[in-house]
Amino acid sequence: MESIFVLTHADESGGALTRASLEAVTAGMELAARLNAPMRIGIVAADPHPLSNGLPCAALAVADPAFAQPRFASDAAACEALCRAAATSIVLAPGSSRFARVIAAVAHRLGGLVDTHITAVGGETAVEATRWFYRQRIEAVVTRTARPWFLLLDAGTHAAYTGESANATVEIVPVSLPALRTEVAGTRAPRQDEQTIRPDARLLFVAGAGWTKKQPDGEVHTGEAGKLILDFLRLSSASLGSSKSLVDQGGEGHSVLPFLTHLNQIGQTGATPRHPKGLSTCCHGEEPHVVGWRFIGERRAISLDPNCGWTRGKADVVYIADAFQVMAKVNESLAKS
Ligand SMILES: Cc1cc2nc3c(=O)[nH]c(=O)nc-3n(C[C@H](O)[C@H](O)[C@H](O)COP(=O)(O)OP(=O)(O)OC[C@H]3O[C@@H](n4cnc5c(N)ncnc54)[C@H](O)[C@@H]3O)c2cc1C
Repeated sequence: MESIFVLTHADESGGALTRASLEAVTAGMELAARLNAPMRIGIVAADPHPLSNGLPCAALAVADPAFAQPRFASDAAACEALCRAAATSIVLAPGSSRFARVIAAVAHRLGGLVDTHITAVGGETAVEATRWFYRQRIEAVVTRTARPWFLLLDAGTHAAYTGESANATVEIVPVSLPALRTEVAGTRAPRQDEQTIRPDARLLFVAGAGWTKKQPDGEVHTGEAGKLILDFLRLSSASLGSSKSLVDQGGEGHSVLPFLTHLNQIGQTGATPRHPKGLSTCCHGEEPHVVGWRFIGERRAISLDPNCGWTRGKADVVYIADAFQVMAKVNESLAKS
């Protein structure tokens, strides 16, 4: 019979579990209920006691100031100690940078196997893990006989667990830490309003090459386009995506939007983010771009071209309109609200 262990870790504040960790808890509970299997939770944190508040089952935890910082040596030792103590056949963990760095090593140390980028865990009698291959074009269901089997879950694929405020019991597992050579001295990150890729945003806003093309007055308006887009991102906290044509223009010496890089590119050769809603602007909606919208819940587009790809069944709502005018109005009403 299977038994399930869900590895979790604290967020940067140390005062709460990460959202992706709580998603893994939901996945674990669903699997445990389906298989009628026992489940426990593992917590990696400097002080795990407050984090167990509201968890649905007993937890094993490591507790040491060393676990306040993400670091291979300490995180791998913590996960190994927890998994050995739990002695379960299935280990679910969030695909955070922290666990993605260590989980293959932990699986190896326990003589198990690992699969990453898992989007769903199904199966009534056996565990079936779903993941995408070949740039999200082929969806595969994987089963394995090897145990322990570690499954690293993609963020955004499950609802985050929200429990009653009841204290689950926490058992502290001792860890013998290896020599720690890495200290995190600090974090250097762009200011929030400079950071345009926001995986947790409710809306994906996509800018297409039309923003930098000649407009009906025969002129390009790149400066105005940049201001409209950045104002909208600031007012809406949306995440910024781009078509390939727009990010490629920088290399061709054309007028460009300086805040866009290839990291913003959505599509077959770009990213496939997950957001509840998406708004495409000045983009033609060609298949190699739209394939990156696979996990966007509701799709809307603003295009001048009534024959663009979005109108051919790729969007739920298409506004045949000038995006400069529409976004100026949208920003105006967002600023008032
Ligand atoms: C192998 C391969 C892989 C590819 N991978 C990707 C990928 O990962 N991602 C990707 O995006 N593309 C990819 N492409 C390219 C893709 O096929 C398209 O060429 C690209 O998406 C076009 O970008 P666009 O729609 O922004 O530009 P355009 O095709 O130039 O469209 C611009 C649109 O803006 C509209 N417009 C102009 N002004 C306004 C205005 N004021 N208001 C409203 N609308 C306006 C125009 O009517 C037009 O429809 C790939 C292609 C190949 C061959």
